[in-house]
Amino acid sequence: MPVGISSKHKPEDAVAKRDYYEILGLNRDASDDDIKKAYRRLAMKHHPDRNLDNPKAEELFKEAKEAYEVLSDNQKRAAYDQYGHAGVDHSAGMGGFGAGPGGFADAFGDIFGDIFGTRGGARSNVYRGADLRYNLEISLEEAARGAETRIRIPTMEECSACHGSGARRGTEPKTCPTCGGAGQVRIQQGFFSIQQTCPKCHGTGRIIPDPCPTCHGVGRVKQHKTLLVKIPSGIDEGDRIRLAGEGEPGINGGPPGDLYVQIHIKPHPVFNRDHDDLHCDMPISFSTAALGGDIEIPTLDGAAKIRIPPETQSGKVFRLRGKGIKGVRSHTFGDLLCHVVVETPVSLTDRQKELLRELEAINIRDNSRHNPRAKSWMDKVKEFFAT
Ligand SMILES: [Zn+2]
Ligand SMILES: [Zn+2]
Repeated sequence: MPVGISSKHKPEDAVAKRDYYEILGLNRDASDDDIKKAYRRLAMKHHPDRNLDNPKAEELFKEAKEAYEVLSDNQKRAAYDQYGHAGVDHSAGMGGFGAGPGGFADAFGDIFGDIFGTRGGARSNVYRGADLRYNLEISLEEAARGAETRIRIPTMEECSACHGSGARRGTEPKTCPTCGGAGQVRIQQGFFSIQQTCPKCHGTGRIIPDPCPTCHGVGRVKQHKTLLVKIPSGIDEGDRIRLAGEGEPGINGGPPGDLYVQIHIKPHPVFNRDHDDLHCDMPISFSTAALGGDIEIPTLDGAAKIRIPPETQSGKVFRLRGKGIKGVRSHTFGDLLCHVVVETPVSLTDRQKELLRELEAINIRDNSRHNPRAKSWMDKVKEFFAT
């Protein structure tokens, strides 16, 4: 089986979220009243109770409700205006990804939950981008031998229209009037004066009065990038490959996060893997089991022969040394363990049945010495009933 670049690994479809203003049919300068009216109109139109024959109505209703919930809340709206969906919804734009360690949620949680913040001033609100995770399914053969594959992932890239500033071409972000550019405000709470991230600019110290129409003021736009992933031989289920710097871009000039490719190995029709060892079932006919013989078994590098000795019982395990997998951190190959399963013959002809009956008659006449296990078991059963 050829190992190499496989094109079937695609990220799960990243469902593009519609712009909240677009959903409500409004411009970005819409007043609170405009938002309320637009939402009422859409809620009436798409309410599921009024659209029993239109299954899509519920989706549209939910979409409008979500847009309203964000845009009607001043703080959420400001966050949305500045960061897009990422600013208000932790799962936004994460199709095919989960938030990795120190993930997306953490990165934004820091911005919005930074009460008692010790960071002084806007310039220190610099965050490393979130780590991302990509689930990659590979075959056992690919895992054993190593492979290279290309993955396509959604990513946020710097907006080329505004070069990442978020401001419409020809305009510039302004110093935040609420915090004077510090990114922090002091609020009096009881006896304490608490330093808090500025709710107007979310700690950036800047606001964008005229957002860039391409990125809606976020400074970043969603794109796709293709990355080459080198899968080392011996990789196992659950292992991760780190692609440094391929995660989300940093915030306010911070370094990017990493992308973790999480390996999942597809079930194999023949082999089960246990660390570096492989296991397989080996069905043999009962005459081979009784008389012995050579049988051919598959291994990851072609067929191999096993000599079955006479009187082989079901459950016997044959170990083929070095026919397993050499793990990423191992120095030697594991073994292949073949588990004998003696198969009871099926679909017998009258002639075959006759021969078996004849054989059984001889076995019984010999006081069952040809089936020592059955005999000793029967003896135990008799003893059990006798007491
Ligand atoms: Zn501010
Ligand atoms: Zn832009």
